[in-house]
Amino acid sequence: MKKKWIAIYSLIFLLIAAILAAPASAHGTAQVDVPSLNVRSGPGLSYSITGSLGQGDQVTITDEQGDWYRISENGWIAAWLTTSVSSGGQEPAAASGKTAVSTVNRLNVRSQASLSGAVLGKMNKGDTARLLSETNGWYEIEFRGTRGFVSAQYISVSGSAQQPAAAAAPAASDSYFTVAVNGLNVRAQATTASAKIGMVAKGQSFSVLSVGGDWVNIRLADGTSGWVYKAYGTLSGQPAASAPVGTGNLSGISIVIDPGHGGIDGGTSGYYGTVEKGLTLQTAEILAAQLRAAGASVTMTRTSDVYINLRNRVSVAHQLGADAFISLHYDASYDRSVNGFTTYYQHSYQQSLASHLNGGIDASTILLNRGTRQGNYFVLRENMQPAVLIELGFLSNPNEEQAVSNDYYRRQAAQGITNGLINYFN
Ligand SMILES: [Zn+2]
Repeated sequence: MKKKWIAIYSLIFLLIAAILAAPASAHGTAQVDVPSLNVRSGPGLSYSITGSLGQGDQVTITDEQGDWYRISENGWIAAWLTTSVSSGGQEPAAASGKTAVSTVNRLNVRSQASLSGAVLGKMNKGDTARLLSETNGWYEIEFRGTRGFVSAQYISVSGSAQQPAAAAAPAASDSYFTVAVNGLNVRAQATTASAKIGMVAKGQSFSVLSVGGDWVNIRLADGTSGWVYKAYGTLSGQPAASAPVGTGNLSGISIVIDPGHGGIDGGTSGYYGTVEKGLTLQTAEILAAQLRAAGASVTMTRTSDVYINLRNRVSVAHQLGADAFISLHYDASYDRSVNGFTTYYQHSYQQSLASHLNGGIDASTILLNRGTRQGNYFVLRENMQPAVLIELGFLSNPNEEQAVSNDYYRRQAAQGITNGLINYFN
């Protein structure tokens, strides 16, 4: 076939595709999460600013493109700086069934229980779906009329936190549970296979509702309840005398956490196959929980396995006027013996933040401290805010890969960063 005909057929195809894609449908309502949110003329940070919205403003989403919501004919806003407050077609929970509640925005619903499954749709924070089954860290759900799978770590299960048969009301001497470790997971049910619904900090005390086997059901600050592993705290007749760790120390501080890589960009991968982009996101989630518990306002540049370019990551810090921007990475070297963590900064106004965070991590983890260094990374070089990039250990070193690829290390590292931030801002 002649080139001319190929061109004409391509043009007809594109026209049909454009016509099919044209009708805008209602996509729900977004509520602005930040003090000031720019409205732009197109779906990207390079488009001109045409207006702005304030925190708590609610707007109707008429279309979506990538990570952007269209809110008017020529108005687009950054979806990651909003929360979806209503979404049509939520599944009501079956009378006796369990409900999966998304704990993050833009959670992918996939066709299979694997990251390679096709994306069927997205759940936003607070969206619910009927829970059908659980398999290998994934939940099968019924979502907007289709069956799909979501990663269990971003789901809290409601209507299912029944106490196990062995659970019993606590004795008077066991009325309070005081957390003995940094960053203890709170789970929906009394098993490590159950979804994490939150995290509590070392030194905090909670009323005990019941004790069952190795697990304690505690009353959380927001009135809900959850299960914690009994061995990671102490039961007593009174709450701990000391003030809860971390409360309010970072109040009023705006922090952007940037989990390195994502989507098609996996980052480095370890000797045993650990992929950097997953580790950075898991670390970021723990860090975000700890910083929020300390009163900080936290924004993540990504909350799921999506690709975000470097310029957009930096723009989040600029748009918020963030007090600190923390990019999390894991390192690699051709020499498998190289090990340790490194804290990078680029500009002089970033150096103090780098040395405080480096000191915090040094005190809380067992890794070798390779120190603070100047590094010509885009997210530092182009950043007008205090910004650091932390390499939290070498995945190319098989021993270090094993040491850093577990929740315990992530909690220790996050605690070190949190402590470093508290020192920096105080
Ligand atoms: Zn990296």
